[in-house]
Amino acid sequence: MRAPDHPDDAEPSAPRAGRTVAGRSQGVTLLGATGSIGASSLDVMARHPGRFHAVALTAQSKVGPLVELCVRFRPQFAVIGDPALEGELARGLAAAGLPTRARSGAAALAEVAADPAADVVIAAIVGAAGLLPTLAAARAGKRLLLANKEAIVCAGSLLMEAVAASGAQLLPVDSEHNAIHQCLAGAGQQQRRVRRLVLTASGGPFRQRDDLSQVTPEEAVAHPNWVMGRKISVDSATLMNKGLEVIEASWLFGFAPELIDVVIHPQSVIHSMVEFGDGSVVAQLGTPDMRTPIAYCLGFPERIDSGSARLDFLALKALTFEAPDRSRFPCLQLAYDCLARGPAASIALNAANEIAVEAFLAGRLPFAGIPATIEATLARAAAAAPADVDAVLALDAAARRLAAQELAARTR
Ligand code: NAD
Ligand code: MG
Repeated sequence: MRAPDHPDDAEPSAPRAGRTVAGRSQGVTLLGATGSIGASSLDVMARHPGRFHAVALTAQSKVGPLVELCVRFRPQFAVIGDPALEGELARGLAAAGLPTRARSGAAALAEVAADPAADVVIAAIVGAAGLLPTLAAARAGKRLLLANKEAIVCAGSLLMEAVAASGAQLLPVDSEHNAIHQCLAGAGQQQRRVRRLVLTASGGPFRQRDDLSQVTPEEAVAHPNWVMGRKISVDSATLMNKGLEVIEASWLFGFAPELIDVVIHPQSVIHSMVEFGDGSVVAQLGTPDMRTPIAYCLGFPERIDSGSARLDFLALKALTFEAPDRSRFPCLQLAYDCLARGPAASIALNAANEIAVEAFLAGRLPFAGIPATIEATLARAAAAAPADVDAVLALDAAARRLAAQELAARTR
């Protein structure tokens, strides 16, 4: 199924019953607790101790840091993605004197995402690896805070259907989509004639660099404005991050690709904008700190403290805008092309990107090899739309095999 092409679903969903109604502490499952979004989420939660408590914290392989987080946040469950590390995790938790139960593997991740004790699930695993637990949270009717953009890029249709069927509440953590959610709030049925969404992009570390042939992984992960995980930092440097976000916006807000624009805004102060039919453009501004969108989602519809610095207008330099350079950064156009081609193309785009970025970070592929690998994979990838999650996973696996072949051809 394609993303709907009319913005009639642009209204943010109404708040469901939760802590603000019942007055009790909200249980939170945090998928990807040891990552960058994980750390920002825990920082916000720690500012509101009576309001949120951890039900489950998860990580892929960092047992030590996960145990440390358990000491601080005392969840019921700690889940390590790699099953070989469950014993080590259990010993670490026991040595710390914690009652927290150690679990492991993909099934356990999905189970803690659907656990009845969790009111809120923060989906902050990186990559398509986060799809199944994110979908499990959506199916279980949770308040789902979505940072894991790869999940919605791969399975937008299934995820949105699951949210609608279960009554889950999907709130976007990604700063651009969070900004759009804020800009659309209050735009009722009658006034919400939206002309376009404008996603802002910093342009990444190579915005002003002509020759990208010698780019190193260290340079690529040094983002000018945001501190993030390594994969999304490389995605920001190639502009694939913005491409993935165009697809994400299309599913979240129900807009056709031609209604979603991207503008480079190097200062990262305006996080995105909505242009309405009367000519009004509504923007959301703030310092570049992911704790702001996380706090927005955790507190919604209340505004709660995030700990982020206030925006100092008098200290601000000029806010500038430019068009993205689609020839130096072909990944953005590849993503638009995939939206037009349908869901199978988006799955292949994401899978090939994950394979190529991993190879680049390992020093096996030059920077320019990332779009080249993706383009070559897309030319060979299947086109049939997936009917269910197994089909999504099969398309993802097939595209990864193709991308690995393309990579081998390039790195021989
Ligand atoms: P990160 O690399 O810092 O953290 C990733 C987390 O996922 C870690 O806890 C890791 O243990 C876990 N993980 C990795 N692979 C896994 C696997 N196979 N199975 C289970 N768990 C696994 O990444 P991040 O920067 O926090 O980004 C997380 C997600 O949020 C990404 O989808 C990213 O695009 C999105 N996002 C991040 C930011 C940001 O500022 N960091 C902003 C917007 C969106
Ligand atoms: Mg973003």
